[in-house]
Amino acid sequence: MTAYDDLMAYQRQTEALGQVAGRLGWDQETMMPEGAAEQRAEEMAAMEAVLHARRTDGRIGDWLGQIDDKSLGEVEAANIRLIRRDYERNLRVPGDLAEALAGLASRAQRTWAQARASEDVGAYLPVLEEMVRLKREQASALADGGDLYDALLDDFEPKTSGAEVARIFDAMRPRLVALRDKVMGSAQPAPLDGEFDEQKQMRLARKLSKLFGYDMRHGRLDKAVHPFSSGSGLDVRITTRTAPRDPFNCLYSTIHETGHAAYEQNIAPEHLLTPLGQGVSLGVHESQSRIYENQLGRSRAFTGYLFGQMKDAFGDFGVADEETFFRIVNRLDKGHIRTEADEVQYNLHVMLRFDLERDVIAGKLEVTDLEEAWNARFEKDFGYAVDKPSNGLLQDVHWSVGLWGYFPTYSLGNVYAGCLFEALKLARPQLEDELAAGDLSGATGWLREAVQMHGGLMKPRDLIARASGQAPSEGPLLAYLDEKFG
Ligand code: ZN
Repeated sequence: MTAYDDLMAYQRQTEALGQVAGRLGWDQETMMPEGAAEQRAEEMAAMEAVLHARRTDGRIGDWLGQIDDKSLGEVEAANIRLIRRDYERNLRVPGDLAEALAGLASRAQRTWAQARASEDVGAYLPVLEEMVRLKREQASALADGGDLYDALLDDFEPKTSGAEVARIFDAMRPRLVALRDKVMGSAQPAPLDGEFDEQKQMRLARKLSKLFGYDMRHGRLDKAVHPFSSGSGLDVRITTRTAPRDPFNCLYSTIHETGHAAYEQNIAPEHLLTPLGQGVSLGVHESQSRIYENQLGRSRAFTGYLFGQMKDAFGDFGVADEETFFRIVNRLDKGHIRTEADEVQYNLHVMLRFDLERDVIAGKLEVTDLEEAWNARFEKDFGYAVDKPSNGLLQDVHWSVGLWGYFPTYSLGNVYAGCLFEALKLARPQLEDELAAGDLSGATGWLREAVQMHGGLMKPRDLIARASGQAPSEGPLLAYLDEKFG
């Protein structure tokens, strides 16, 4: 056994335990009896403690020191690069700070949920201030003299800086605002009206999920309050939700999560339970879910197919034809909620959060002024006021659980999806005919080869550049949105 083999055997056990911890989380959101919550919190904390101890174990440093990087092939080198990166990051953060952050995250999430239910920002601010204090401490430990926000962003999207994100957003904002105003200024179709049987919604969701390539032998679809995807390799599970008057919520959440799950399922089997056996970054992950959901799922061609499927499932539901159906699926609304936003306005919601959180981490904006700053910015960007905190500062869970530097990865995912879709269309001239027939295999097969199978082998931007044949930029996404909505 060489040092590399010893390290990888150790790492494999850590990865396996990480999957177990993830499955506890899945169970908590889907199957767990209500009365088990307290015990589950202790079980999950115990798993986290075991994982943290393994990830900072001194033997990792010893093995890394014994490995001669020059003797490694491409896969081995990528494994070592990721293990070293995680090990060094974990060692930089003092154990008591990591523990304090984990403890505060679960307390803050409960406080946030109560504050949101009672529309009480004041009850939330003290715990949020404490979170910001700890996150800035963590960022200082990680940044090693560099930019604090970049250090946090690096956790989710390695090798991307706040300045680079700001440059992309500055280029996108005026184009998106102009497009939004143009669409809003013209006549839009009325939303769906009527009741849609929830069991039938789930049946159709299951069918769509398989159509988009989700392998049910290695996965399952359940209901949860918030849709998510969980797990890697041979066991990747997704959830969705149903609302009787809004079938699109169920169907498009399912397609979105199928994109995340297909990415994990399609990683080459040789990477199973190694550092390469997971999606390479949140931005790349979101590029897969968004291209499944939007560029493919909300395309004119595919909505034509879906219109027929919905008529089969629900009978006549009051929409005259395919063209009207396409426009209903893609209508723009005057809403406050990021997760419900359409393709044109979604990134404006992300930009608002990015600018505010960057200022908070830089110490330029106090937590006590955050709500006022949010509301002023929202009115400026969207042209109407925030009517209640649950439609403003209290709408997202992220900041309460310590996810600072996370929001921009949603928009980077959209930007990457734009690049990939441009390349996909060039590679498959027959794409529209396939989508119109409900045949996703060509598109998802291309994404599997170009992106998904590689797992963590390449760095995120290199992967997108190689797959799309160009350095990632906002240009293709903006051109796609202009063509579709303009
Ligand atoms: Zn997603």
